[in-house]
Amino acid sequence: MITLTNRAKPVDRKPMTFIESIYLWNIFKGMMITLKHFFRKKVTLQYPEQTRPFSPVFRGVQILNRDEEGRERCTACGLCALACPAEAITMEAAERMPGEETLYREEKYAAKYEINMLRCIFCGFCEEACPKDAIYLSETFAPSAYNRQNFIYNKQDLLIPDPETQPEQFAEAKGLREKSKKNNN
Ligand code: SF4
Ligand code: SF4
Repeated sequence: MITLTNRAKPVDRKPMTFIESIYLWNIFKGMMITLKHFFRKKVTLQYPEQTRPFSPVFRGVQILNRDEEGRERCTACGLCALACPAEAITMEAAERMPGEETLYREEKYAAKYEINMLRCIFCGFCEEACPKDAIYLSETFAPSAYNRQNFIYNKQDLLIPDPETQPEQFAEAKGLREKSKKNNN
Protein backbone atom coordinates (compact mmCIF):
# COMPACT_ATOMS: atom_id res chain seq x y z
CA MET A 1 0.00 0.00 0.00
CA ILE A 2 1.34 3.46 -0.93
CA THR A 3 0.96 6.07 1.84
CA LEU A 4 1.95 9.70 1.89
CA THR A 5 3.03 9.94 5.51
CA ASN A 6 3.77 6.43 6.75
CA ARG A 7 1.52 7.09 9.72
CA ALA A 8 -1.32 4.82 8.64
CA LYS A 9 -1.69 1.76 10.90
CA PRO A 10 -3.48 -1.40 9.86
CA VAL A 11 -6.57 -2.06 12.00
CA ASP A 12 -5.97 -4.88 14.50
CA ARG A 13 -8.84 -7.33 13.98
CA LYS A 14 -7.61 -10.01 16.36
CA PRO A 15 -10.38 -11.51 18.50
CA MET A 16 -10.44 -10.11 22.07
CA THR A 17 -9.00 -12.14 24.92
CA PHE A 18 -11.19 -12.91 27.94
CA ILE A 19 -9.61 -10.07 29.99
CA GLU A 20 -10.14 -7.61 27.13
CA SER A 21 -13.74 -8.72 26.65
CA ILE A 22 -14.74 -7.81 30.26
CA TYR A 23 -13.09 -4.35 29.92
CA LEU A 24 -11.76 -4.47 33.50
CA TRP A 25 -8.22 -3.63 32.46
CA ASN A 26 -9.37 -0.60 30.44
CA ILE A 27 -11.57 0.59 33.32
CA PHE A 28 -8.60 0.20 35.67
CA LYS A 29 -6.37 2.21 33.29
CA GLY A 30 -9.00 4.98 33.15
CA MET A 31 -9.32 5.04 36.95
CA MET A 32 -5.54 5.33 37.30
CA ILE A 33 -5.58 8.42 35.11
CA THR A 34 -8.36 9.91 37.27
CA LEU A 35 -6.43 9.05 40.44
CA LYS A 36 -3.24 10.61 39.07
CA HIS A 37 -5.05 13.93 38.48
CA PHE A 38 -6.75 13.72 41.87
CA PHE A 39 -3.48 14.42 43.70
CA ARG A 40 -2.14 17.00 41.27
CA LYS A 41 -2.28 20.73 41.97
CA LYS A 42 -5.75 22.07 41.02
CA VAL A 43 -5.81 24.42 38.05
CA THR A 44 -9.40 25.55 38.59
CA LEU A 45 -10.35 28.51 40.81
CA GLN A 46 -13.49 28.90 42.90
CA TYR A 47 -14.71 31.97 40.97
CA PRO A 48 -16.07 34.48 42.04
CA GLU A 49 -14.65 33.94 45.56
CA GLN A 50 -11.19 33.50 44.03
CA THR A 51 -9.92 35.37 41.00
CA ARG A 52 -6.77 35.12 38.96
CA PRO A 53 -4.45 38.13 38.94
CA PHE A 54 -4.91 40.13 35.76
CA SER A 55 -2.15 40.50 33.24
CA PRO A 56 -0.71 44.03 33.27
CA VAL A 57 -2.01 44.43 29.70
CA PHE A 58 -5.53 43.10 30.37
CA ARG A 59 -8.26 45.27 28.82
CA GLY A 60 -11.74 45.00 30.27
CA VAL A 61 -14.96 46.92 30.01
CA GLN A 62 -14.73 50.65 29.24
CA ILE A 63 -15.19 53.37 31.83
CA LEU A 64 -16.10 56.99 31.14
CA ASN A 65 -13.84 59.02 33.34
CA ARG A 66 -14.45 62.09 35.52
CA ASP A 67 -11.94 64.68 36.67
CA GLU A 68 -10.91 65.12 40.31
CA GLU A 69 -13.91 67.46 40.87
CA GLY A 70 -16.32 64.82 39.60
CA ARG A 71 -17.05 66.50 36.24
CA GLU A 72 -17.47 64.38 33.12
CA ARG A 73 -14.37 64.62 30.97
CA CYS A 74 -15.88 63.58 27.65
CA THR A 75 -16.44 66.41 25.15
CA ALA A 76 -18.20 64.22 22.58
CA CYS A 77 -15.48 64.95 20.02
CA GLY A 78 -16.07 61.57 18.37
CA LEU A 79 -12.41 60.58 18.04
CA CYS A 80 -12.97 57.32 19.93
CA ALA A 81 -15.83 56.39 17.60
CA LEU A 82 -13.65 57.23 14.60
CA ALA A 83 -10.78 55.10 15.93
CA CYS A 84 -12.99 52.13 16.79
CA PRO A 85 -12.41 49.39 14.19
CA ALA A 86 -15.62 47.62 15.24
CA GLU A 87 -17.84 50.73 14.93
CA ALA A 88 -19.11 49.97 18.42
CA ILE A 89 -19.33 53.53 19.75
CA THR A 90 -22.11 56.04 19.13
CA MET A 91 -22.75 59.38 20.81
CA GLU A 92 -24.73 62.59 20.68
CA ALA A 93 -23.13 65.89 21.64
CA ALA A 94 -24.80 68.70 23.59
CA GLU A 95 -23.81 72.24 24.63
CA ARG A 96 -23.11 72.90 28.29
CA MET A 97 -25.59 75.39 29.73
CA PRO A 98 -24.74 78.12 32.25
CA GLY A 99 -24.82 76.55 35.71
CA GLU A 100 -23.67 73.14 34.46
CA GLU A 101 -19.96 73.86 34.96
CA THR A 102 -19.87 71.49 37.94
CA LEU A 103 -21.22 68.64 35.80
CA TYR A 104 -19.22 68.89 32.59
CA ARG A 105 -15.59 69.87 32.24
CA GLU A 106 -15.77 71.31 28.72
CA GLU A 107 -18.31 73.42 26.83
CA LYS A 108 -19.54 70.33 24.97
CA TYR A 109 -20.44 67.02 26.51
CA ALA A 110 -21.90 63.65 25.51
CA ALA A 111 -25.65 63.77 26.09
CA LYS A 112 -25.78 60.18 24.86
CA TYR A 113 -22.87 57.74 24.74
CA GLU A 114 -23.26 54.06 23.88
CA ILE A 115 -20.92 51.14 23.35
CA ASN A 116 -22.17 47.93 21.77
CA MET A 117 -20.27 45.31 23.73
CA LEU A 118 -21.26 42.61 21.24
CA ARG A 119 -19.10 44.42 18.70
CA CYS A 120 -16.25 45.54 20.95
CA ILE A 121 -13.01 43.61 20.56
CA PHE A 122 -11.29 45.28 23.52
CA CYS A 123 -8.50 46.62 21.33
CA GLY A 124 -8.10 49.80 23.40
CA PHE A 125 -8.00 52.14 20.40
CA CYS A 126 -10.76 54.31 21.91
CA GLU A 127 -8.60 54.88 24.99
CA GLU A 128 -5.58 55.73 22.85
CA ALA A 129 -7.53 58.11 20.61
CA CYS A 130 -9.11 60.12 23.42
CA PRO A 131 -7.42 63.50 23.90
CA LYS A 132 -9.22 64.16 27.20
CA ASP A 133 -8.39 61.03 29.21
CA ALA A 134 -12.14 60.50 29.20
CA ILE A 135 -12.33 56.78 28.45
CA TYR A 136 -10.22 53.85 29.53
CA LEU A 137 -10.48 50.09 29.58
CA SER A 138 -10.78 48.84 33.13
CA GLU A 139 -9.74 45.60 34.80
CA THR A 140 -13.31 44.30 34.96
CA PHE A 141 -15.06 41.79 32.72
CA ALA A 142 -18.22 42.75 30.88
CA PRO A 143 -20.88 40.74 32.73
CA SER A 144 -22.83 38.09 30.89
CA ALA A 145 -26.48 38.64 29.99
CA TYR A 146 -29.37 36.74 28.41
CA ASN A 147 -30.63 39.58 26.26
CA ARG A 148 -28.70 41.23 23.39
CA GLN A 149 -30.10 44.62 24.40
CA ASN A 150 -28.30 44.31 27.76
CA PHE A 151 -24.97 44.45 25.93
CA ILE A 152 -25.62 48.00 24.71
CA TYR A 153 -23.97 49.99 27.47
CA ASN A 154 -25.22 53.54 27.83
CA LYS A 155 -23.59 56.50 29.50
CA GLN A 156 -24.93 55.68 32.95
CA ASP A 157 -23.56 52.13 32.69
CA LEU A 158 -20.13 53.43 31.67
CA LEU A 159 -19.69 56.51 33.88
CA ILE A 160 -17.27 56.12 36.76
CA PRO A 161 -18.75 56.87 40.23
CA ASP A 162 -18.36 60.46 41.42
CA PRO A 163 -15.10 60.80 43.44
CA GLU A 164 -16.72 63.47 45.65
CA THR A 165 -19.77 61.47 46.71
CA GLN A 166 -18.56 57.86 46.19
CA PRO A 167 -14.78 57.93 46.76
CA GLU A 168 -14.47 54.19 47.49
CA GLN A 169 -16.39 53.11 44.39
CA PHE A 170 -14.38 55.64 42.36
CA ALA A 171 -11.07 54.18 43.62
CA GLU A 172 -12.29 50.64 42.97
CA ALA A 173 -13.31 51.52 39.41
CA LYS A 174 -9.92 53.12 38.81
CA GLY A 175 -8.43 49.75 39.66
CA LEU A 176 -4.97 48.50 40.50
CA ARG A 177 -3.39 49.65 37.23
CA GLU A 178 -4.25 53.30 37.96
CA LYS A 179 -2.95 52.91 41.52
CA SER A 180 0.36 51.47 40.31
CA LYS A 181 0.63 54.29 37.73
CA LYS A 182 0.30 56.79 40.59
CA ASN A 183 2.86 54.94 42.71
CA ASN A 184 5.35 54.93 39.85
CA ASN A 185 4.95 58.69 39.25
S1 SF4 B 1 -11.96 48.74 22.71
FE1 SF4 B 1 -11.70 48.82 20.48
S2 SF4 B 1 -13.49 47.80 19.67
FE2 SF4 B 1 -13.96 48.27 21.80
S3 SF4 B 1 -15.03 50.23 21.73
FE3 SF4 B 1 -12.83 50.68 22.04
S4 SF4 B 1 -11.99 50.98 19.99
FE4 SF4 B 1 -13.99 49.95 19.76
S1 SF4 C 1 -14.36 59.63 25.07
FE1 SF4 C 1 -12.68 60.99 24.47
S2 SF4 C 1 -12.43 60.61 22.27
FE2 SF4 C 1 -14.44 59.80 22.84
S3 SF4 C 1 -15.85 61.45 22.43
FE3 SF4 C 1 -15.27 61.61 24.59
S4 SF4 C 1 -13.54 63.03 24.61
FE4 SF4 C 1 -13.79 62.37 22.49
